[in-house]
Amino acid sequence: MSRDNVSTADHRPTHTVEDYLMTMHVMERDYGEIVAARLAEMLGVAPATVAMTFKRMERDNWITGKGRKAVHLTDTGREAAHSVTRRHMLTEWLLLKILKVDLPLIHDEAHGIEHAISPHLEERMRDILGDPHVCPHGNPLPGYEDEVSGWIPLTELALDEKVVIRRVHEFAEENPGLLNFLIENGVLPGAEVQVLEILPFNQTLTIEVEGRRVILGFLAARYIFAERHSSG
Ligand SMILES: [Zn+2]
Ligand SMILES: [Zn+2]
Repeated sequence: MSRDNVSTADHRPTHTVEDYLMTMHVMERDYGEIVAARLAEMLGVAPATVAMTFKRMERDNWITGKGRKAVHLTDTGREAAHSVTRRHMLTEWLLLKILKVDLPLIHDEAHGIEHAISPHLEERMRDILGDPHVCPHGNPLPGYEDEVSGWIPLTELALDEKVVIRRVHEFAEENPGLLNFLIENGVLPGAEVQVLEILPFNQTLTIEVEGRRVILGFLAARYIFAERHSSG
């Protein structure tokens, strides 16, 4: 009678599997593989829980890679991962633009809603929201990765360089402490920033954001992407 026993790849994945698939999509996109230990960390669950979910996901043909530390999405799994990622990102826009939900809340709120969005509703949302290619944090909807590939992590900037913030990576969205810090300090897509100081021995980067000095550790700065001003 358990729902899991009737779940197959012909049906929509369970909520838990959709949550896994969305994080897996980001890992595969950025690293080319999905490492179980890292996924457990990202999802805030025990490695044993991930191992059990992997078993079910393999049985249902979402992933392959039995008994290995890294797994891969099947074509069906990737399609489902792209679908839930799109629904998540469109829901973020719906919450922000239409429902006027505060920016710090939209990622978590979207997680609660994204699973219930039907294909019909997704299409309506895309039309009403003007067919966005990135989420409000600047992360690409599946298929639009090329449009963000020219944006560079803050850790690659030179001293004094002036850039425009374009993207706060999904892994930063998942970190409420970091996300709130960035929002409070205006380190968000559209903000103009200048690099004031780079201290490699300290692993910190100081930037000016609209008259305010903000110190970021390299670990956090890696997840923030900016666009260089065109020199033309
Ligand atoms: Zn999000
Ligand atoms: Zn987002």
